[in-house]
Amino acid sequence: MDFKNCKECGKVFRSNGISKICPKCELEDGENYEKVKEYIYDHPGATLPEVSEKTDVSEERILYYLREGRLEIIGTSSMILDCERCGRGITTGRYCKECASELERGLKSGFSQIENKKPTSRSKNRMYTAEIKNKNK
Ligand SMILES: [Zn+2]
Ligand SMILES: [Zn+2]
Repeated sequence: MDFKNCKECGKVFRSNGISKICPKCELEDGENYEKVKEYIYDHPGATLPEVSEKTDVSEERILYYLREGRLEIIGTSSMILDCERCGRGITTGRYCKECASELERGLKSGFSQIENKKPTSRSKNRMYTAEIKNKNK
């Protein structure tokens, strides 16, 4: 078991290796999320340090919410996240809208290619005929 100091309250707790905060603080996390969300909705354009100060939620936590896509900065010029693909400033998630739609298109066309592809490869044919044979037995 891994013992860690809670990032929020500093208490030692048993970590599952992923969480950086103790169970008690994790409970408060939900409330913090609501606080941050409300503040950003009420103050579009607020900067990260400002939101952190006003809500008493660490900047790290706010960034975490943003990365998770749970939170979106509305109408702010201070883009604090970068698209993981092209590096453009984004307000939520991991990719900018362009990259996200491109990735989605890429995925879809990839799938349709697979769907349209007839089982012409030898291994597939073999599997197919093997199945038929088994059924006829
Ligand atoms: Zn704690
Ligand atoms: Zn991008």
